[in-house]
Amino acid sequence: MTSPRIDLHLHSTCSDGVESPTHVMEVAKAQGLDVVALTDHDTTAGWDEARKACARLGMTWVPGIEFSASVDGKSVHLLGYLIDPENPDLLEEATKTRDDRLWRFESMVSKINADIDGLTLDFVYSFHVEGATLGRPTIARALVDLGVVASVSEAFDDILAPDNDKYFVGHYSPTIERAIEVVLAAGGVPVFAHPWTADRASLARPDLSDDQIDARFDALVDLGLAGLEIHHTENTPYGRERLAAIAAAHDLIITGSSDYHGDGMKPVLPGAHTTAPAMFERIAERGTGSAIVWA
Ligand code: AMP
Ligand code: FE
Ligand code: FE
Ligand code: ZN
Repeated sequence: MTSPRIDLHLHSTCSDGVESPTHVMEVAKAQGLDVVALTDHDTTAGWDEARKACARLGMTWVPGIEFSASVDGKSVHLLGYLIDPENPDLLEEATKTRDDRLWRFESMVSKINADIDGLTLDFVYSFHVEGATLGRPTIARALVDLGVVASVSEAFDDILAPDNDKYFVGHYSPTIERAIEVVLAAGGVPVFAHPWTADRASLARPDLSDDQIDARFDALVDLGLAGLEIHHTENTPYGRERLAAIAAAHDLIITGSSDYHGDGMKPVLPGAHTTAPAMFERIAERGTGSAIVWA
C-alpha cells in the first residue's frame, strides 16, 4: 500500500477561503489526499460540513483551527488540532479576535476607499460570505474585480501589505504564548503555522541573532508548543533549514501543508505540501479535545 497523503491546513468560506467546506474537500480528494484538516481562521464553523463531505468522499477528517496570534505586536498563526470547540477560553479568544477583525476590515476598506472610489464597503461586502471570519483576502478580491490589481497576490504585495502605513490596520489577537495555552487547555495540539516566512516571521526577526531566535522557540516549546509547519510554500529556504534544526533539537512534530484558500487565491492546490504519516500519528495520539473520523 502506498503511504497516505496528508494535508492538515485548508481554508473555506467559513474564514477567508473562497470555496465552501464541501467544495474544498472535493478538491482535496481530486488531488489524491487521504487525510485532511479544515483549519479556518479563528472559527470551527465549517467542521460539520467538512466532516460530512469527508465521510462521503472516503477521507480521514481531522478537526482544526488556525488561531490569529501575535509576537511583538505582529501577526503570526498557530494551528490547533483536535481542540474542544466548546472550551470557554478558546471561544472567548476566538470571539474577541473575530469581533475585532470586523472593525479592522471596515477601517481598512474606508482608508483605501478614500483613494479608490469604487471600493465602497457595500461593494467589498458583496464578496463576503455571511458569518465568515473577515480578512484581507476579501478586500483583495474586490480590488481584483475592480481591475486595480491583476491578482490577489499583487494586492497583498502592495495595497494590503502590513508595511503599507497608509492602509494597513492590525486587529486584536492573543499573544502566541496565550494562544498555545488556550489550545492546550482545549485538549488540542499546537503547531506553529508557517513559522519562518519572509514577511511575517516575527519570531525570526532579522535584527535577532540565531541564538536569540533559538531562545524564543525554546521558550514556546517549554510552554507546550508541539510542532512546526516546516513544509509550507511561504517558509523561506533558509528558514526551513533553521526550523528543521530546531525541530530536531526538541523532537518536535514536523508538518507540511498547502494552506489552500481556494481557486485564484494563493498559487497552491491541496497537497502542495504534505505531512508524514508518522508525524500525523503523533498529533492523533496527543489531541484529546475532539475526535478524528477515520476513513
Ligand atoms: P488577514 O488575516 O486578514 O491579515 O489576512 C491574511 C490572510 O490572507 C492569511 O490567512 C493568508 O494566508 C491569506 N492570503 C490569501 N491569499 C493570499 C496571498 N495571495 N498572499 C498572501 N496572503 C494571502
Ligand atoms: Fe487565510
Ligand atoms: Fe496562516
Ligand atoms: Zn492558513
